Amino acid sequence: MASVLVIGAGLAGLACAWRLQRAGFDVEVLEREAAPGGRARSREHEGFLIEPGVGVFASRDNGLHGLARHVDLASDVQSILRFPDAIDTAHGMAAVRPIEDPLFVQTDAVHRSDAWRLGRLRVEALRWRRELDPVSEKAIGALDSLSAVTWLDRVVGRGLRRERVVPYASALAGMNVEALSAAAFLRFAERLRGVRPQYLIGGLALLANRLADRLNVRFGCDVSAIESEDDGARVRYRAGAREGRAMADAVVVAVTGPSMASLCPKLVPSERGFFESLSFARRTVAHLLFDAAPAVPHRMIAFPPRDGFGVSALEVAHHMRGAAPSGAGLLRAVLSEAATGRLSGATDAEVAGVVLDNLERSAVGRLTPREVIVDRIDAAAPIAGPGFFASLARFENRVERTPRMAFAGDYFAGQGAEAAISSGLHAASEIAHALPPRSVSRVV
Ligand SMILES: Cc1cc2nc3c(=O)[nH]c(=O)nc-3n(C[C@H](O)[C@H](O)[C@H](O)COP(=O)(O)OP(=O)(O)OC[C@H]3O[C@@H](n4cnc5c(N)ncnc54)[C@H](O)[C@@H]3O)c2cc1C
Repeated sequence: MASVLVIGAGLAGLACAWRLQRAGFDVEVLEREAAPGGRARSREHEGFLIEPGVGVFASRDNGLHGLARHVDLASDVQSILRFPDAIDTAHGMAAVRPIEDPLFVQTDAVHRSDAWRLGRLRVEALRWRRELDPVSEKAIGALDSLSAVTWLDRVVGRGLRRERVVPYASALAGMNVEALSAAAFLRFAERLRGVRPQYLIGGLALLANRLADRLNVRFGCDVSAIESEDDGARVRYRAGAREGRAMADAVVVAVTGPSMASLCPKLVPSERGFFESLSFARRTVAHLLFDAAPAVPHRMIAFPPRDGFGVSALEVAHHMRGAAPSGAGLLRAVLSEAATGRLSGATDAEVAGVVLDNLERSAVGRLTPREVIVDRIDAAAPIAGPGFFASLARFENRVERTPRMAFAGDYFAGQGAEAAISSGLHAASEIAHALPPRSVSRVV
């Protein structure tokens, strides 16, 4: 039986290991932390589910739904239909019409001429749909070299871009979409068009835990070097005070993008160039815990940029089953990237103070949580800025490849849980096609 090592038990690594195991490979996953899930990992705190994001996915996320079915979680998938999203405007909260198209941010508070422009945005986005093939350098080129900001300014103008489209799309994406290329922005919008937002009772980490339970995962293995040649792969790691080595016929590297290049010293130049060019956005999240849930009749509220305002989105987690004790409240305030940078040296109490002050100045009003927990995530979301798809196409179409090595991570397929899972499944297929049927596996 051919053996494969998978490095990283995030959703990408777990999806990959799951598919390889089902295909009959002898798979071992090496994970640095004590639990699976990577960026989707969550923790329980006095009955509250503390996860970095609300773990929302889309009804069209087939890879995620397939895995959930496999680990008997299909009945735990819930839709969030009752509570509309909203944008905080100068005139109060404007409810966003049910999500059909994240670009078409129609709210009651939009002037008729603006509504016309937003409609035009939808038409323009549909016009470009066919050009969004990520591995065809030629097709995607025009949109890839353009920033989302430039493209949006041409279609809707600066005002609507700043006040409506970017705040709402950024809140949905969990990052500032102004950093994206037009191509990445439109692909993100296309992915969410016409879908229902969904979540898993207990959070996305539950999916990771269930998958890990069915796999051979070795936790606490901090991998320091990964090499592979024509005859197989070798991995060095540290487990506590002990140095270890593992060998297999092939390896899949599913660690968060930025550390890829330093972990794999013998990558071919085109692979190294691609990984070194990756960039990820930071994220700061403040979890606000309440004994009694505040009345916020929205799923999520987006905040346009304003002077001295650091919160970019407020996610209402207690509308989701299992996120908070009965009657209690859980809100997650996501800070903008600018505020994340500004407050990088601030204490958690100072961050909490900024968040509560900002919300008091918004249509949300004064809140008095019993506790605020602050999470800071260094590499939270991949940024597909201008030129990213050209770089990805060069990587995918490279002639010279490191043998017996495949790569997985959300950044290959957009961002989010579904992107991570589909990249993991893709890496598994790559390995299955490349490996000869027989082999030896040894862990020292
Ligand atoms: C704040 C926040 C909110 C989010 N909200 C949502 C959301 O609502 N919906 C959604 O779909 N997605 C959301 N996401 C994105 C989603 O969590 C990620 O896209 C996805 O989990 C990425 O999975 P991955 O496997 O590609 O990478 P990771 O989760 O980063 O997994 C990499 C794994 O590799 C391990 N590792 C790293 N280095 C080593 C090493 N040297 N040795 C061994 N192991 C190593 C890590 O510990 C980790 O377990 C959110 C992310 C963040 C940060």
